[in-house]
Amino acid sequence: MAVIGFIGLGHMGGPMSANLVRAGHRVRGFDLAPAALEAAAGHGVEVVPSVTEAVRGAEAVITMLPGGGHLLECLDEVLTAAEPGALLIDSSTVDVADARQAHEKAAAAGFGMIDAPVSGGTAGAEAGTLTFMVGGAEEDFRRSEAVLEPMARKVVHCGGAGNGQVTKMCNNLILGASMIAVGEAFVLGERLGLPPEALYDVASVSTGQCWALTTNCPVPGLVETSRANHDYEPGFAAALMLKDLKLAASAAEQSGTDTAVGRLATELYQRFNDEGGGSLDFGAIIGSIRERSGT
Ligand code: NAD
Repeated sequence: MAVIGFIGLGHMGGPMSANLVRAGHRVRGFDLAPAALEAAAGHGVEVVPSVTEAVRGAEAVITMLPGGGHLLECLDEVLTAAEPGALLIDSSTVDVADARQAHEKAAAAGFGMIDAPVSGGTAGAEAGTLTFMVGGAEEDFRRSEAVLEPMARKVVHCGGAGNGQVTKMCNNLILGASMIAVGEAFVLGERLGLPPEALYDVASVSTGQCWALTTNCPVPGLVETSRANHDYEPGFAAALMLKDLKLAASAAEQSGTDTAVGRLATELYQRFNDEGGGSLDFGAIIGSIRERSGT
């Protein structure tokens, strides 16, 4: 079993590190927040007072931080203190450009690195059923598999440096846009006298079928797994959806890609966040559609 340094023990990193401990790894964890450290210690993580202490003696170092700025800031300390041969795994969701810069810095310091953002939310982190989207060299991907395994249901190698982040961003562009379309369809149907059950029964087995409809339906009472049945308690918070859509919008602009629907979805989630919906599940955006339609 390996010694693993874990930096960022928040909503995701906390339960992910707990699963590594459960699998028999020795986990040395650091976070800036005392409450996160305390919770991790309760899960058997050996909490330490700095990044340097967390990476000392570790064969793999996992970062699970809020964004690219935090990653790049933290990385300098990681690269100074890490053991030669340590594998660096960043599972945060960050800008593709930041991810590629992190890979370059790691390579220049002689370390292998993968970007490995996740899908599956806090429930997946707790259950050890996350999907990891990996960008990096084949050899580093192979080395990461045993480390990721206790936290993962699926690990997919998506190509070279940064491609994990590209995959995550593209997936969430589909998800954000499809949730808005599903919400609009239900509100339009309702206003024209169509019972939501009828729309669900048809669309769920027809060409309108998608995850936003059949797993996280924004109308309560139609799908058992939906966060709508729990007052839209996340799940996947609208603030995080906005973050990911902004990353896609920025990458689209930098690469000169025409993503008109993605841009509009970003505006609509921005508006929903400005209205105070950021901490709700992203499916709650249907409430904003209803309100604007006078329903
Ligand atoms: P979080 O804010 O709960 O956790 C991040 C942790 O990082 C915090 O505890 C914070 O104190 C710590 N931190 C910040 N800077 C640090 C530093 N320099 N050194 C040490 N610790 C530091 O966020 P989260 O929900 O756990 O998300 C983490 C990442 O995972 C984000 O990039 C997010 O976009 C992504 N993600 C989240 C979800 C989700 O459902 N929460 C799902 C998929 C991906």
